[in-house]
Amino acid sequence: MKYYSTNQQVKNVSLQDAVVKGLAEDKGLFMPDVIKILPKEFFDNIENLSFQEIAYTVADAFFGEDIEAADLKRIVYETLNFDVPLLRVSGNIYSLELYHGPTLAFKDVGARFMSRLLGYFIKKENSGETVNVLVATSGDTGSAVANGFLGVEGIRVFVLYPKGLVSPIQECQFTTLGKNITAIEIDGTFDDCQRLVKTAFLDADLNAKMKLTSANSINVARFLPQAFYYFYAYAQLKKLGKAQDVVVSVPSGNFGNITAGLFGKRMGLPVKRFIAANNRNDIFCQYLETGEYNPRPSVATLANAMDVGDPSNYARVLDLYGHSYEAVKADIGGATYNDSQIAETLKTCYETTGYLLDPHGACGYRALQEGLQKGETGVFLETAHPAKFLETVEKIIGKKVEIPLPLQAFMKGTKQSVELSKEFADFKGFLLNF
Ligand SMILES: *Cc1c(COP(=O)(O)O)cnc(C)c1O
Repeated sequence: MKYYSTNQQVKNVSLQDAVVKGLAEDKGLFMPDVIKILPKEFFDNIENLSFQEIAYTVADAFFGEDIEAADLKRIVYETLNFDVPLLRVSGNIYSLELYHGPTLAFKDVGARFMSRLLGYFIKKENSGETVNVLVATSGDTGSAVANGFLGVEGIRVFVLYPKGLVSPIQECQFTTLGKNITAIEIDGTFDDCQRLVKTAFLDADLNAKMKLTSANSINVARFLPQAFYYFYAYAQLKKLGKAQDVVVSVPSGNFGNITAGLFGKRMGLPVKRFIAANNRNDIFCQYLETGEYNPRPSVATLANAMDVGDPSNYARVLDLYGHSYEAVKADIGGATYNDSQIAETLKTCYETTGYLLDPHGACGYRALQEGLQKGETGVFLETAHPAKFLETVEKIIGKKVEIPLPLQAFMKGTKQSVELSKEFADFKGFLLNF
């Protein structure tokens, strides 16, 4: 399969190059040339297949031409060594719990898949050259990427995070790992971290000396595997006899997750419509209302992984729908909630149903509560375990939240990190001397 850039200046790129480069040279996002429609028999029989079997069928449609079947199967099965259960919360609303992986957030799926795919290409190339993954994080991305790439041969990961601005639970998930993971505490903000990473990718001298790549949701290897669990959700609904008129609500920030679902629909997955659930950073909802896309600086909210002022995958959404505003609107609706609405939803849901949402899932749940029509079945993606936002959630429900064992294990580890200033020269010097 070849990949083209959403900016149309770059075409016919191999999967390997798209994965290693991350972003196209014209600064666009890579898209596959073809989105295959899966056969009717697959959907007829989907409820009898395991998560891994379903995921392999979807993965084969994207990556089957470029990777040996046995290797692709191994990559899929190693990635999905945890379940993604679907639970009824209330009425016709179901939660797809994406947080049973090692760092308790949905980003584990993409990060684990990408690390194994990159590892496969590095081994095949056999140049002996180490690939350096640079990732700037405000929390969740760093932990998913660090844990996904932990121990993968031929790859080193540098996680840059703002000193003192990441929650202790999040920090321990990427500073206690050791091995091929290096955590760098920057004396600055998340924006400084992101700037350092971006500057590194553009530094000719550095790139001549080291192979650098990124691991955020612009990377096709992190983004496409997120389609897997939409199919698995459908399979679980079908088993329950609830597969008619399915509406999927996705708590969205950079729109990688929802775009993977839109790809699923294009492959034949019977989803009636999607809802993009936003916090106060509602740039996309505004676009749906007005047809105009006006990025603006993000504001801090309780659902902080969705504090994005210019969603990077917007370019993919537009490309997928041929830049037709009408076509986008036919498939996607929007909903936006402020912090007090998020808190109220989390509290009320807990008190009336016993189900504990996290602040991101709360947006997804409420969008279904308000937007589901008669006869429809709603699924919202629960993107992170509520214990990852411990102080916020405990304060809202007025009760202690139990911390899952994997998270407790991280908290017992010893923090190892390097402190650096926000000057690029310091960061560059550190990388070159590593
Ligand atoms: C990253 C993240 C999101 C947003 O996902 P996008 O793919 O960027 O839209 C939502 N919730 C949580 C918990 C996240 O970590």
